[in-house]
Amino acid sequence: MIRDAFEKTTEKQELSADICIVGSGAAGLAMAHRFIGTKKSVIVLESSRYNDCQVTSNQPYRIQSHRYEDPMVQRVYGGWLNGKPDPVFFSNGRARCYGGSTNCWEGWTRPLSESDFDQFERSHVWIWPKEVEQSLNDKYYAQAMAYCSFGKWLFDCYRDQRDQYDAWIREAAKRDITLATLDPGWIGSLETAVIMQIAEQDQTGARPDGNLAFQFKWGHEIEEADNVTIYRNANVRYLEKDNGNRVKATTLTANGRNTAPDKRHSFYVKADQVILAASCIENARLLLHSGYKREEWPALGRYLMDHPRLERAATFHTENWPSEGIFNFYSGMTRLYRGANDDAESTVVFAVLASTEWVRNTPFLPGFRARLSFGVKGDENTQEDRSGSIDLLWEKMPSVDNQVALRPNSADPVFGDPLPDVTLTLDKYDSQVRQRALEDVSNLLRDKNYTYSIKQSDAPPSFRGEDVTGATRMASDKDYGVVDSDCKMHDVDNLYIAGGSVMPKAGWANPTLTIIALALRLADHLKGP
Ligand SMILES: Cc1cc2nc3c(=O)[nH]c(=O)nc-3n(C[C@H](O)[C@H](O)[C@H](O)COP(=O)(O)OP(=O)(O)OC[C@H]3O[C@@H](n4cnc5c(N)ncnc54)[C@H](O)[C@@H]3O)c2cc1C
Repeated sequence: MIRDAFEKTTEKQELSADICIVGSGAAGLAMAHRFIGTKKSVIVLESSRYNDCQVTSNQPYRIQSHRYEDPMVQRVYGGWLNGKPDPVFFSNGRARCYGGSTNCWEGWTRPLSESDFDQFERSHVWIWPKEVEQSLNDKYYAQAMAYCSFGKWLFDCYRDQRDQYDAWIREAAKRDITLATLDPGWIGSLETAVIMQIAEQDQTGARPDGNLAFQFKWGHEIEEADNVTIYRNANVRYLEKDNGNRVKATTLTANGRNTAPDKRHSFYVKADQVILAASCIENARLLLHSGYKREEWPALGRYLMDHPRLERAATFHTENWPSEGIFNFYSGMTRLYRGANDDAESTVVFAVLASTEWVRNTPFLPGFRARLSFGVKGDENTQEDRSGSIDLLWEKMPSVDNQVALRPNSADPVFGDPLPDVTLTLDKYDSQVRQRALEDVSNLLRDKNYTYSIKQSDAPPSFRGEDVTGATRMASDKDYGVVDSDCKMHDVDNLYIAGGSVMPKAGWANPTLTIIALALRLADHLKGP
């Protein structure tokens, strides 16, 4: 069932459950869904009161075409980035609402590659525990794909990029759509990789303006489950560290939708197991605010990552259009409808040029992906435009210096709790990968005779806070990780973490499929045999 905590709890009331999940984003809802019908009683605490449409807002940090959040508690998502308040990074990158940031995301996703997991040659600090890699690849990625309505058939071949894009090309051909790849061939540094989009057609009560939001996909089944209760309007303030991680939450009421709260009370949840699934930076902030300290957990808040992005990293003029198949595949507009029996109704795919495993195994060269635009071919309605561009996104190498801390003397505007102070800087690896990526892609375009003049941009890349990972990372060694391979906090009996914050290394792929796979794995672990 789903309830408003302001109406259903009283001051200082203590609720109890076997499992308490903090947050109802992709991670929290995937876990809650997995507990349906089990013997475990589950409470989900979700901060927002309702999901308000913010599409038409003219606030400067709204850069998405679709966005839902609770405007009152969204104000809590502030903080300092590299010494300055930064509303874009903090509030653009996270949405406080039921279903979390999937209410503003783009839905592009894919699993991590083999080299993202296996970094032994480079640094033992960056490596995923072997058993986690294996269980994701053997079981949980396939299940996460099914959760996202992609069906299972593509999973088996994702590890070999060529097998995967061949599968998409065959799939498209069945629907008379021609796809083809820009196969570099001559050098082992670039390959075509495919990213899929979770499509909006799957939503029950679909909105016209968004990609799959997880409360539409899974929410109604969770709400009907007898053993799971979702409390909205339940803002988790901290965990009582010395009281078995009893969770303190505050609930609010306001006269109008966007006004300051006028009444509030706090209640508690005592659970055998507590799972933080409140998003990457918030997971770390809550732990620090609850009194968990770096002296005892040296990696707490550290090794934060986000994907540096540079749109129009280079522009070029196209003399020769690529074939129709290449134009379609790389433009990201290929919608492939699939039959209901395949478990996936509709998927949009786009192809990118990505660094190969060979490059990513070169010491200290992070993985990257380049998205190509070849301009507009033009028809009776549109004018031809032969200017193309290369958008770049790459992996940030985990560094102990990139971190979440608590900002001294800061207070959020609703509860007065301390805000995050984030350090996330560009380093020599970022320059290396930018240079290498542009060199390789430019050479390929010249080699294929698509362009002769390429102009590189001088603009710096930016962090948008969308793909943040790390900060409570996984490692068997407590000096380098906050949680163990079961996502349990080291040396704490009943505290677990779900979400991108546990990822020890991010790869260049969009993170959410991995976040869901890890959440399902954690739920199975807690359910027991
Ligand atoms: C604009 C944008 C585009 C994106 N595009 C993509 C994409 O194309 N592909 C991709 O893979 N990823 C994308 N992402 C990232 C993706 O949305 C996240 O990786 C994913 O949603 C993270 O899920 P989560 O459950 O860990 O966190 P969230 O979705 O952030 O959920 C956290 C939940 O916890 C609640 N919460 C937070 N603090 C508290 C508290 N103190 N008490 C109670 N509840 C709390 C929040 O209200 C929210 O419901 C995008 C993100 C953004 C912002």
